[in-house]
Amino acid sequence: MNLKALYKLGYGLYIVSSRNGDRLNGQIANTVFQVTSEPPTIAVSINKSNLTHEFIKESKVLAVSVLSQDTPLSFIGHFGFKSGRDMDKLEGINYKAGVTQAPVVTDNALAYLEAKVIQQVDVGTHTIFIGELAGADVLKDGEPMTYAYYHQVKRGTTPKTAPSYVEEKKEAVPKMAKYRCTVCGWVYDPELGDSDGGIKPGTPFEEIPDDWVCPVCGAAKSDFERME
Ligand code: FE
Repeated sequence: MNLKALYKLGYGLYIVSSRNGDRLNGQIANTVFQVTSEPPTIAVSINKSNLTHEFIKESKVLAVSVLSQDTPLSFIGHFGFKSGRDMDKLEGINYKAGVTQAPVVTDNALAYLEAKVIQQVDVGTHTIFIGELAGADVLKDGEPMTYAYYHQVKRGTTPKTAPSYVEEKKEAVPKMAKYRCTVCGWVYDPELGDSDGGIKPGTPFEEIPDDWVCPVCGAAKSDFERME
């Protein structure tokens, strides 16, 4: 079985958020899709170990923000590689309370959807929440971020809790040494640099300033390991 066939499926990239009483949380998700139009209904697949899963189970509401293609890696990393159990992920983020009272993240969002959960499907590691649309709006024009764009152009990485995570084999030894973030798995390729962090292409890892951080998860330079 060639699991790379799964890479040919098309996905977007979204923030799925919810609330539990006064507590708010959101996370990155790529599995959001419309399942029927009358009434408008969406489905979202969320890992059971995520805090957002707990919140949706409790409140039965969720919001989805459709991310723009120019969303910085650091913003995706903030929602994708950090846990709301350790921090308030919405602090410093622009959001509004929707009609469901779920927090609707408006930063880097082209549009949003709000839904009330009407059904839940247990699929082992994940729950598929099926929700009837309760609110929706377009916030600005632009291209939505696709999962393929995130991986190929932004060179983003996938947390192990994502439904689409496929374990990757180690790459062959490169010419100029690449360094991997031990926290999120993002790889610094000296030939490409890091445009988000102001590192020009062709900069060896050793010459990056010490205060530089991982563009995805914010880990320190010292958290990177040389790839052999
Ligand atoms: Fe990282």
